[in-house]
Amino acid sequence: MSINIKDISEKDRNSVLHPFTQLKDFAAGKLGDPTIIETGKGIRIQDAHGNQLIDGFAGLYCVNVGYGRTEVAEAISRQAFRLAYYHSYAAHTTDELAILSDRLVKMAPGKMSKVFYGMSGSDANETQAKLVWYYNNLRGKPTKKKIISRERGYHGCSVVSGSMTGMSFYHDHMDLPLPQIVHTGVPHHYWGATPGESEREFSARRGEELDQLIERLGPENVGGFIGEPVLGTGGITPPPEGYWQAIQAVLKKHDVLLIADEVITGFGRTGSMFGSQHYGIEPDLITVAKGLTSAYFPLSAAIVGEKVYKVLEDGADKVGAFSHGYTYSGHPIGAAAANAVLDIVEKEDLPGNARDVGAFFQAQLQEKFAQLPIVGEVRGVGLMGAIEFVADRDNKKRFDPSLKVGARISKAARDRGLIVRAMPHGDILGFAPPLVATKAEVEEIVGIAGSAVRFVMDELA
Ligand code: PLP
Repeated sequence: MSINIKDISEKDRNSVLHPFTQLKDFAAGKLGDPTIIETGKGIRIQDAHGNQLIDGFAGLYCVNVGYGRTEVAEAISRQAFRLAYYHSYAAHTTDELAILSDRLVKMAPGKMSKVFYGMSGSDANETQAKLVWYYNNLRGKPTKKKIISRERGYHGCSVVSGSMTGMSFYHDHMDLPLPQIVHTGVPHHYWGATPGESEREFSARRGEELDQLIERLGPENVGGFIGEPVLGTGGITPPPEGYWQAIQAVLKKHDVLLIADEVITGFGRTGSMFGSQHYGIEPDLITVAKGLTSAYFPLSAAIVGEKVYKVLEDGADKVGAFSHGYTYSGHPIGAAAANAVLDIVEKEDLPGNARDVGAFFQAQLQEKFAQLPIVGEVRGVGLMGAIEFVADRDNKKRFDPSLKVGARISKAARDRGLIVRAMPHGDILGFAPPLVATKAEVEEIVGIAGSAVRFVMDELA
């Protein structure tokens, strides 16, 4: 099908409110025409002009099985023809939904019991907050409601999840964060450690700071803690050694629920099926989205652990039905898409591919970038990685933000046919290719990124 690019661009400019886009510049045409993406296959997408791009970020770290998987498209189509929709209220279900839920409970880390479905990572985290509050009301602890998240954590953009997100530009002018959400220090050794402080010492300090924060708020007022196993949008930052052990000890001490936000790390990205398994995290609640359907259909889930679920079930005689749900909770097409995607994840062992190709990718990033004069840190795990650029390596001094170094490098990569993301916090280039990427494809990604970095380095010299 050929489309009229001019007509589509005009319609888009006149009628779409684009997320994370400078509205005035876009309206005035200063950002050029919208990029119309038409097709995709494997790790590549193609725009309406016929330009091929390597998607080194899997959309928004979500198209884990790659583009153009006909098995998933067929599963979606089959379900749409058979039964396009029915709800899951009042004990209604579909075969795909029941099968998916059984699968998720069995494959998720820790002792999981039930799965509640939404459409996005944001709404799933909204559900997690309500579960923390409901759980504490039902067990007679009505003040235990504050939820702690980390600076530079990212948990979504809705009212509660946006409050959990720990970057001020997601709050400014939007009346966030809500007072129920409190932030604690970012687990990033490179920027956060004092001179000479080891990773373990830094992690222990983050644990002590959390302990002091909970004491200050009053343990009787703190209900939950949410964290991504690996910080994602805040800069693709794996935790320092011993971090999750230090944090979990404090949460246990104060009877605070742990929500693992596995929206990025779920289903293989770190090289383990879940980030929690990779880092020895034992969550009470788990959030998944993105990789659950590889974004072939909007579907998210709040996976509820036994400890929490038992309180919910025990309280049912007192409070009646669980009064939370969306029209599309457990959508049968989403469930069919997820089952087809999980078949691929298991059959093709995508966590194993993320581990093996990921090890090669991390080694390549280190080899090609770590010693460059404008690089402060190269980091990552599995098939997620980042390069952080600094003006002064020895004194860890950032570039003047007006130089827009990260954005310029990302643009230079784009001009060379590679999508990699300028992360919003600092001058950071983020990588998260589909989990089906081969070593040759990863080499190509690193090669193009290298040429983009050298181009901007020359401009800065
Ligand atoms: N949690 C994490 C860790 C995420 O990375 C994201 C999105 O990037 C979300 C939650 C929010 O998901 P969504 O954009 O589907 O609402």
